[in-house]
Amino acid sequence: MKYVGAHVSAAGGVDQAPRNAAAIGARAFALFTRNQRQWQAKSLSAEEIAAFRMNCRKEGYGPAQILAHDSYLINLGHPEAKALAKSRAAFLTEMRRCEALGVALLNFHPGSHLRVSSEKACLARIAESINLALSTTKGVTAIIENTAGQGSNLGFRFEQIAGIIELVADHGRVGVCLDTAHAFAAGYDLRTPESFAAALAEFDRIIGSRYLRAAHLNDSKAEFGSRVDRHAPIGKGKLGLEPFRLIMNDDRFNGIPLILETPESERWAEEIQILYALQRRKPKGGAVPLNHRE
Ligand SMILES: [Zn+2]
Ligand SMILES: [Zn+2]
Repeated sequence: MKYVGAHVSAAGGVDQAPRNAAAIGARAFALFTRNQRQWQAKSLSAEEIAAFRMNCRKEGYGPAQILAHDSYLINLGHPEAKALAKSRAAFLTEMRRCEALGVALLNFHPGSHLRVSSEKACLARIAESINLALSTTKGVTAIIENTAGQGSNLGFRFEQIAGIIELVADHGRVGVCLDTAHAFAAGYDLRTPESFAAALAEFDRIIGSRYLRAAHLNDSKAEFGSRVDRHAPIGKGKLGLEPFRLIMNDDRFNGIPLILETPESERWAEEIQILYALQRRKPKGGAVPLNHRE
């Protein structure tokens, strides 16, 4: 089963997100549980939490279909102690909010060394930041998103993500969200069946397919290998439809949130339809593929 949806608005309260998702025919959704561009966040009231849980139940969204995204201000690899502490505190707050809402997956960008520290030291700080958050919370998995590698952002190479996971104490509560536009901009070509298979094989060899817990389905305005993060509507960018057809027919993407973060929200309902239409019907009585996951 493929859970395709979008990163919907939570304006007016987190409980609006499942309603907004249902309105566009989404089978999954992502949300910010707070204003993503501010450090300060009003704590969630008992009423908001109850309303969110009720709306998720009503619209049929379970834990495997909901992906929270953390604030863009957080840098878990910050090279300066004071700023790192601020980011870690904010990340812990994000995780606690997920805990309260019953959201099991918290997606974040690994972090940046800001050209101050080495890549290795930065990856170690990110892992330690994850460990600190996991050790004081329950039931929420830290989902590392691969990046386009803009500026000094790490996580654009699978080796960097594997380097973080290796240092995380609880391997049961860490996973990866594969963003197609970021992967493409970072130099993983997804445009043909062969290059797609090679990129996914590399993911499996270096990180491990079992860590694939979510995906962001975005076409890319930016060129292949440009290290520029710019999303395009599905089929309207440099990726075209093929990578999405491949994803929609790949069992490794079953049972996890597949989230659109494409620029024109008014297209989302149609993009969801386009993606489902790319799915081949399974032949009856066919062999069960190796990585089968419903
Ligand atoms: Zn992201
Ligand atoms: Zn993304």
